[in-house]
Amino acid sequence: MTFIIAKERITSWLRKLIKQGILVAPVSLANGDVIFKELLTPDNILLEYDQPLFSPKNFFFPQQETLFKFTKQSPQNLEAIFDKFPRVFFGLRPCDVKALNQADVFFSEYYPDPYYSWRRKRTLIITNSCTQPLSRCFCNLMGCSPSYQQGSDVFLLDIGDVFLATAHSEKGEKAIETFRHFFAEADICQLECAKHLVSEAEATLENHIPASTKIPDITQMPSAFWEKISKRCFSCGSCSYNCPLCFCYNIVDRADGSFGKRIRTWDSCIFEGFSRMAGGHNLDKNKAQRLQKRFTHKLKLYPEKYNTPGCTGCGRCSSACLGRIGMKEVLQAMDKEVSGDAQK
Ligand code: SF4
Ligand code: SF4
Repeated sequence: MTFIIAKERITSWLRKLIKQGILVAPVSLANGDVIFKELLTPDNILLEYDQPLFSPKNFFFPQQETLFKFTKQSPQNLEAIFDKFPRVFFGLRPCDVKALNQADVFFSEYYPDPYYSWRRKRTLIITNSCTQPLSRCFCNLMGCSPSYQQGSDVFLLDIGDVFLATAHSEKGEKAIETFRHFFAEADICQLECAKHLVSEAEATLENHIPASTKIPDITQMPSAFWEKISKRCFSCGSCSYNCPLCFCYNIVDRADGSFGKRIRTWDSCIFEGFSRMAGGHNLDKNKAQRLQKRFTHKLKLYPEKYNTPGCTGCGRCSSACLGRIGMKEVLQAMDKEVSGDAQK
């Protein structure tokens, strides 16, 4: 069943939902940037906002986290560190939820990751549909859309003064049913309005880049193509740190006297030291090769394995990269290369 909830009642609903937990929601910084932030109250959250600057992966797979602690006296007794509080994550966009669905597979398939799954299971996902895609967005080309609902516990669609609300899981049903007094049943006009807004958002995306656009075969790109692009790359890693679908990490042990801890930190295949092995041999010393690998992984190896690209089309890498080497720019450059325009 589809419900409606008035925008002015969202904060009251969230306040009830986070009684025993923490809220993560979009907020505006002093410079106008929008980010997801952990909050104790929903007072200053945004209901209308552009795609937040950073992807939400940090809340499930933190940039740095202590996995466990140990002591010199009894190193076999490991003290695992898990988050204490459940979370309500409000305002993810559909493309970020699609990335979470893919992260679920990544973190569970070979070596199930207890830290990731602990956070994921204890988080209620409330998605806020994207009715005004940004010019950098191309989710339609990557198997997603402004109305993609899989993985959301509650899916909200902004139709003006109210949100349409649909539950997609038991957790989501409970979040609505327990506080049913905040909700009413949606009427036909509201449902029609929602359809119209989704169509408009989809049409905007189609104007950016049609979903039917054929992605050129990345294996056909000559090494000169990657050499040229790599001249603009600073190996800063912003592209992968901002990407909701980059999950490379490094593990280090830190000891202090008789105490120690094992720490996991984000890493990136774009860093020169990423493939350096014991003895100093480095498989990927060449920057052009590293870029080629990054994009080949996302556009060829990932789809071959998971039947969907390693990109959701969120466009964050385009915003983050000083050298204009976002996914969208690389797709456009590949297209020019194939059509021969790059030589003109
Ligand atoms: S953000 Fe751009 S400059 Fe930085 S590593 Fe990625 S491609 Fe290179
Ligand atoms: S590659 Fe770029 S556009 Fe694709 S999901 Fe990652 S950050 Fe978003």
